Amino acid sequence: MRVLVVEDEPALRRQLHAALADAGYAVDEAADGVDAQHLGETEPFDAVVLDLGLPRLDGLTVLQRWRAGGRTMPVLILTARDSWHEKVAGIDAGADDYLAKPFHTEELLARLRALIRRSQGLASPLLRCGAIELDTRSGRVTVDGRTVALTSHEYRLLAYLMHRPGRVVSRTELTEHLYAQDFERDSNTIEVFVARLRRKLPPDTIETVRGLGYRLALGA
Ligand code: CA
Repeated sequence: MRVLVVEDEPALRRQLHAALADAGYAVDEAADGVDAQHLGETEPFDAVVLDLGLPRLDGLTVLQRWRAGGRTMPVLILTARDSWHEKVAGIDAGADDYLAKPFHTEELLARLRALIRRSQGLASPLLRCGAIELDTRSGRVTVDGRTVALTSHEYRLLAYLMHRPGRVVSRTELTEHLYAQDFERDSNTIEVFVARLRRKLPPDTIETVRGLGYRLALGA
């Protein structure tokens, strides 16, 4: 799962980046509206945290341009405290949720989890696929009730697939959604992670669909 953080205050941007990385997301950042607009138009994100007060181009305009250009990723805006009109303008511009500054990181993480699962039509934070359970709140994965230890990359891969059960996901899509832009990408590493993950899950959980990619078996 890949998230874009748009925030011009360096300390807050770093704090958000660290918290999201800890929570298992691949994180990209932008410090102004122009960079944000470009990244949001050219890279696929599973969610965006967008501050509205930004240098060069304000967050509301960035959001309007994304939506006008057909970008549908979930966007959570950060608004000034007590500014109800900012919230209204943000939601009308296409934001999916908002959080007023200052906020608790835990609340931001919970709202992002909800946005990401709803964007895939999922209602529960506990994802199940056969014997596998993935709790998006704790990052805990179990098979038949037993905890499975996963590396952060393995977790990110499994979480991406479990948000899309039964859907074929190409290696390119995985590469784009599991790594931030500055990460040295190599689609062969996806195969390596899939192989490692398969060894930790019940047999035939992750199917290879020849020439197309991978699919999480619904009856796994
Ligand atoms: Ca700001």
